[in-house]
This record gives sequence, structure tokens and C-alpha cells, in this order.
Amino acid sequence: MLVMGTGTTKKEQGMTNVAIVTGGSRGIGRASALKLAKTGYLVVVNYASNAKAADDVVAQIMKDGGKAVAVQGDVGKEADVLTLFATSDKLGQLKVLVNNAGIMDTQARLDEMSTERLKRIFDINILGSFLCAREAVKRMSTKHGGTGGAIVNLSSAAAVMGAPAFGVEYAASKSAIDLLTIGLGREVAAEGIRVNAVRPGIIDTEIHDSSGIKGRAKMMREQIPIKREGTADEVADAILWLVSEQSTYVAGTVVAVAGGRC
Ligand code: NAP
Repeated sequence: MLVMGTGTTKKEQGMTNVAIVTGGSRGIGRASALKLAKTGYLVVVNYASNAKAADDVVAQIMKDGGKAVAVQGDVGKEADVLTLFATSDKLGQLKVLVNNAGIMDTQARLDEMSTERLKRIFDINILGSFLCAREAVKRMSTKHGGTGGAIVNLSSAAAVMGAPAFGVEYAASKSAIDLLTIGLGREVAAEGIRVNAVRPGIIDTEIHDSSGIKGRAKMMREQIPIKREGTADEVADAILWLVSEQSTYVAGTVVAVAGGRC
């Protein structure tokens, strides 16, 4: 695990408000981490393997006068998730979880997919999001002595479109995120926690490289009513709204950021 940044403890900082961004080192997570830091959160930038990208986000936040730490951990592994949240506990009070870490695989039909591939997608995209949400609720819920907070999950347009002949397992994993959002959102709404999700469409990040289709985001332009792919910043703006005081009556719902595509 790599920890950078303030190096100070919770006691030293008083009630520092902490935001965990899983997969905060690149793409939508990176944009969210930078914006959350600007609004005053100490940001825990989780990542899986690319330490340099995570260090760059932390360095940018610190250059801008904010506070951040980078924490390696695979969200699909419970031990890593527990370490991630234990690290956050030492830094302050968890108020925000952006449940963002997610992967897709190469373009394929279901009858071409190995069991290993299915397990990997479901472990990271579904189990990882559930484990992180569970740990966040334990800390934020007034039922557990917390003071409330906000959880934003990352769904996808694929959750409602199905991604046929592209990645139905990815689509199904994001559909699970929709139901996590609705169910958990209702489960903990009276305990000070607002659980919501964003549903990005085609966003210009490196995730599309995993599909094996070069320039996929640009190729999709004609299918998007707005006629362009979205940016990570545009999704992060919706995430920031969902954790802000401007959305206090928004709970258990999914906000599409998809250029009109879904
Ligand atoms: P991205 O650019 O590929 O970035 C993925 C981030 O997640 C990286 O920081 C990566 O860290 C991290 N990550 C990957 N596997 C992880 C794991 N097992 N544990 C912890 N961190 C992990 O992806 P993105 O496009 O920003 O997507 C972010 C989320 O939005 C995903 O859930 C994705 O499904 C969803 N989404 C994206 C789009 C889109 O068009 N981009 C559309 C709909 C939904 P490393 O660099 O260390 O691997």
C-alpha cells in the first residue's frame, strides 16, 4: 500500500471530512477526486495497479492546496477493502464514497466468455461495490453512531441497453449496481445516508481500450443524440452534485449522464 499526502492523523486534524474514491487514479474517478478535494474533502484515492497515476492525482490535489492519500487495493478482494476503509478511518470521518472502480473486457458474446472472465467482472464490478458500500454504511449510518453521508455508485447506460454482442456480463453487473442503489438507498435513507448512482453513457476514458476496439468512444458518436462522447469532468460534476447540499432530497435513484442516449 502506498500512502502519500498529509501523513497526519484523525486526532491531529479534528473532524476532517474524508471522501473515498475507488478507482480514483484515472478517468471518472480521477476527475471526481480532483473536484472533491477542491470542495474541501481529504480524498482517499484508491487504485488497483497503476501507482504512478494515483500518485499524480495526489500530487495535483496537494499542488492545488488540498489533501489526499493514495491507497492501493483491489475492491474485489475483501481484505483490501477492509484495509482501504481502515486507512480512511485514521484520516478523519468518512462522509462520501464514490463507488467508481469498474472494468470491462474485450468485445464478446456470452457463448465466448470463460467462467474466469465472468467471475472477474462480477467480483470487481458487483462484489467490490457491495463490499465498499457495506463498509461505508457501517461508518456513516446514524444507526451505527455515524453522522450520515453520501454514496454514489457508478452504473452505466449498458445497464438498460444490455450491450448485446459486446459485453452482456458488464451490462448485467451494472444492472446490479442500479438495484444496489435503489434498495440500499431506501434501506438507509432514514439513517442519514443518501445512496444514488450516475449512469454514464459513452465517456472519453481509457476503459474503452479494454474492449479491444480502437477509438471506440469516437466511433459511437453517431449513436449519441448529443453527437459526441462525454468527458470525465461532466460525469464528475453530476457526482459532485449528488454528494452536495444541492441534492438533499435525492435518494435511491440513478441519474443518467449519457448525452440523451438512455
Ligand atoms: P478507467 O478510466 O478505466 O479507470 C478505472 C479506474 O478504476 C482506475 O483508477 C483503475 O485503477 C481502477 N480500478 C480498476 N480495477 C480496480 C480494482 N479491482 N480495484 C480498485 N480499482 C480498480 O474507467 P472509467 O471509464 O473512468 O470508469 C469508471 C467507472 O465508470 C467504472 O465503474 C465504469 O464501469 C463506469 N462507466 C464508464 C463509462 C465510460 O464510458 N467511460 C460508461 C459507463 C460507466 P488502475 O489504474 O490502478 O487499474
